[in-house]
Amino acid sequence: MIDSDCFASVRPFRPAPVLAIVVPCLDEAETLLHTDRVLSGKIVSLIEKGQVSDGSFVLYVDDGSTDGTWDVIERLAAESVRSRGLKLASNAGHQLALMAGLEAVSVCCDAAISIDADLQDDVEAIDEMTERYRSGFDVVYGVRRHRKEDGVFKRTTAKGFYRLRNALGMRTVNNHADYRLLSAAALKGLCRYRETNLFLRGIVPMLGLRQTQVFYDRKPRVFGRSKYPVGKMLNFAADGITSFSVRPARMILSCGLVFVLISLGILTYVLVRHFTGHTIPGWASIILSIWFCTGVLLLALGIIGEYLGKVYMEVKRRPRWQEERRLNI
Ligand code: UDP
Ligand code: MG
Repeated sequence: MIDSDCFASVRPFRPAPVLAIVVPCLDEAETLLHTDRVLSGKIVSLIEKGQVSDGSFVLYVDDGSTDGTWDVIERLAAESVRSRGLKLASNAGHQLALMAGLEAVSVCCDAAISIDADLQDDVEAIDEMTERYRSGFDVVYGVRRHRKEDGVFKRTTAKGFYRLRNALGMRTVNNHADYRLLSAAALKGLCRYRETNLFLRGIVPMLGLRQTQVFYDRKPRVFGRSKYPVGKMLNFAADGITSFSVRPARMILSCGLVFVLISLGILTYVLVRHFTGHTIPGWASIILSIWFCTGVLLLALGIIGEYLGKVYMEVKRRPRWQEERRLNI
């Protein structure tokens, strides 16, 4: 469904959209002034080119920061109506903060682009994204050309993660993070997904509509430090698998069946040895099997627990975030 061929002329030409750029922020006070300069500058240049309409804006979502990020957002919003703010009452996490922003802008824009506050994703790709939108696409993924600037650990784990998702039959856009444009139709579709364990990269390909990709080079972070330590990243990856597929649980079931068959074989062997007068040698093998089987059982229980935990969170239907204040929206 992803259409990466030339997006050209045969497609309907949409009018210049009201574009919302949604920026989730956790403790980004250091970078926000620079970020706003760049993003507002980009919007003004797009307006001048007639590529987006005059009412376009940037929405900063403060995800429970503790470093004065909201003060900066208030200052930016006071200086220009193009800069808007949404403050969450506590840290909901990157995906939910982003979703809160997208849901807020879905009623007042024609297209929304999500981008991280550190601007590691190249803002120059926004021009091409809006062009693709205007030529009729509803979802435009920003895709990294390569991952050379990542460390070996991140690069290898990311590769393994994408492979696993593909192997489990989940639709995935490789090397795409949360830098993407969504049309009003795509936003409307996205807002109907009410899940708490949110993994937007997995949901957006499921929206259908007309999807395409633009390519860019990712830069290193200039101000502040990453808000995604290894533990958070691994949890995020686990969500990316278990929120979309019950296949791992089924694989454990198949494993269980194979183990039962093997143990039946061992039982036959033991009985034959017994009736032919041979004693079973050694305890090492017994101890080994006890440990091994217990390990497998615990692993299975762990995976089942993971799914039960998700069901538990979903059935509660808790509000997924709490808004505190809005500025200019
Ligand atoms: N972020 C957020 N809430 C969180 C963690 C991160 O809103 O709980 C924001 C963060 O401010 C940034 C974006 O999500 O705008 C991505 O985070 P970061 O750049 O630290 O991740 P990395 O690029 O290191 O993967
Ligand atoms: Mg970053």
